[in-house]
Parts: sequence; structure tokens; C-alpha cells
Amino acid sequence: MTDTATAPETNPGTLVPEVRLHPLRARSLTVSRVRELSARMRRITFVGADLEGFAADGPADHVKVFFPADATGSTPDELMPRTEDGSWVNRPDPALVFRDYTVRSFEPGSGELVIDMLCHSHGVAGRWAAQARPGQRLGVLGPRGSVVGPFTASQYLFVVDETGLPALANWLERLPETAYVTAFVSIEEPEDELPLRVGPRTEVIWLVRGRGHGREHGSDGAVTATDVLARAVAQAGRTVAAAGSDGWTFVGAEYSQVRAVRTVLRSELGVARDRMDVSGYWRAGQANFDHHTEIP
Ligand SMILES: Cc1cc2nc3c(=O)[nH]c(=O)nc-3n(C[C@H](O)[C@H](O)[C@H](O)COP(=O)(O)OP(=O)(O)OC[C@H]3O[C@@H](n4cnc5c(N)ncnc54)[C@H](O)[C@@H]3O)c2cc1C
Repeated sequence: MTDTATAPETNPGTLVPEVRLHPLRARSLTVSRVRELSARMRRITFVGADLEGFAADGPADHVKVFFPADATGSTPDELMPRTEDGSWVNRPDPALVFRDYTVRSFEPGSGELVIDMLCHSHGVAGRWAAQARPGQRLGVLGPRGSVVGPFTASQYLFVVDETGLPALANWLERLPETAYVTAFVSIEEPEDELPLRVGPRTEVIWLVRGRGHGREHGSDGAVTATDVLARAVAQAGRTVAAAGSDGWTFVGAEYSQVRAVRTVLRSELGVARDRMDVSGYWRAGQANFDHHTEIP
């Protein structure tokens, strides 16, 4: 959970997210299906008796996924998470390899947990996703809680990259058609674009940043993809800023992009801290970046 996890518990339907806590449980799950969603995004479906009691009600709810250290096959027993009475007991083990992933969907009826994973060659999780096959077994911990909504604001602004796309897709599927929505999606290449549910008042703007994380200079040597994104947010963000408590902003992308966008939202547009859920989903050059890191 991000900043909003500390928001007061309240009823759904209000303009404040509702926080629902879940007992922390470690699960061993088996891949049942793998489907290509785009050039680099794969949809991995997990099943297993351990999914009994699983709950993830919020659009950006996430779990920790435990991978085999060599990014191939199944996670061995010694690298699986272990919980006792709601506590993660092998947390201090430095050998564990775990990363955060959004719950794209969970159907209690079919008992299927779906996670959309970006394939890339830079880290264990990105490489595992590229080789994922039915029958492979991974560990999953959480979610610790759900952050539900708010779904009744009139204005929404989303800023994500490929890693925040599953959360954006979840949001778009839950928002009413009456909501005004602007979503910026930073993607490496046009082939990273995904079909999304787009309501009559929703605009999705895909910004191709090219290879890398967005801070590299463009061909003119001055403007970076992050600059372009921040300027676009500065323009489009005026409506959500003007909406005050009737607006909601969600940002989930690479840390430096998130930091630039947050500066625009806070300093230029004056969006209140409690009207946004902002976190770095990964950080260029850093393995296992902690998304709870304070963004200055
Ligand atoms: C709350 C939350 C939800 C998330 N949900 C999803 C999701 O649903 N789907 C998804 O695909 N990702 C998601 N992510 C992002 C994912 O956890 C990170 O990208 C993670 O770092 C991948 O682990 P790794 O082992 O591949 O790389 P790491 O070992 O963490 O990092 C190794 C190197 O790879 C680089 N790297 C990490 N991620 C990327 C990337 N996306 N592109 C290019 N280089 C990268 C790092 O900068 C580092 O240099 C989420 C993150 C958070 C915090």
C-alpha cells in the first residue's frame, strides 16, 4: 500500500479511499496460463489451493511475488515466503528474491489470480516473466490490505508507465462512466500499448519515451521524455487541481518520472497531498526499489 494506506477508514462512496486489512498469508501458487498482452507484457494466471481466502479489492492492490534466484522455473522451497500468525517470519533471509506486483484480477469462483508482468532483461522478475510457463510455482505474500477507491470523484488524473498499467486498467474498469478521466501512459515503444476500457469521458494519452527510463536527453539534446511528461501533466492537471476534494490523482511509474510529476502536482498545481496516491514502482539502476521511499 502507498501513502493512501494511512487514510482514515470510511465508507465506500465517499471521496476518501477505504482501507481494508487482510490477514498476512504466504501462498505457493502454480502458473496455469500465460498469454501475450503486448510486445513485452505477459498475463500470468496462477491457481492453487492456497488462494482460499485471498482478497484484493482495490485497483492498485499488490502482492509480493517470490522468484527463483536464477529467474528460471519454480521458486525452491527455501526461497518461498513463510508466515506464522500473520507475521512474515523469514523476512530477514537475504536469499529471498521478491518484487511487488499489482493484482490485475482475482476471481474467487474460478480461483484464478491474474498478474500482468513486464518482460525485461535487467532484473530477475523481468527475466522470469519472459520465460514463464504453465506448471511453474512461485510464492506470493499479501496483500496486507486493500485500498478501495475513491470511485465517486468527478475528475481523475493517472500517470503511469508499463508497470503502472495494470493498476490503471483496474481503475478504468471500476470508475463510473460519469467520471472525467485523463490518463498519461509512458511507454518505451508503441508496441507496449494495450487495449483499455475507455469511458465516454476518458482520454488516454500514450507517450512513447524510447529506450530507457525517460531521463535521457532526446535528439535535440535538451528535452527528456520526463520533461515532456511533466509538461503534459502541468497542462492537463489543472482540472483535477481545480476539482479540489472532488479530484483524485494516481501516479505509479519509474521513480524519477514520478518525482518530476509529483513536483508539478504539488508545487505548480497545488494538488493536496491527501488527494493523490503517488509512488515510484521501480527505480532506474536500483534492484528491488522500495516503493514506500519518501519522494522529496
Ligand atoms: C506497488 C507496485 C506494483 C507493481 N506492479 C507491477 C505490475 O503489475 N507489473 C509489472 O510488470 N511491474 C510492476 N511493478 C514493478 C516491478 O515490481 C519492478 O519493475 C521490479 O523492479 C521488477 O523486478 P526485477 O527483478 O525485474 O528488477 P530489479 O531487480 O528490481 O532491478 C534490476 C534492474 O532492473 C531495472 N528495472 C526494474 N524494473 C524495470 C522496468 N520495468 N523496466 C526496465 N528496467 C527495470 C532496475 O532499474 C534495475 O537496474 C510494481 C511495483 C510496485 C511497487
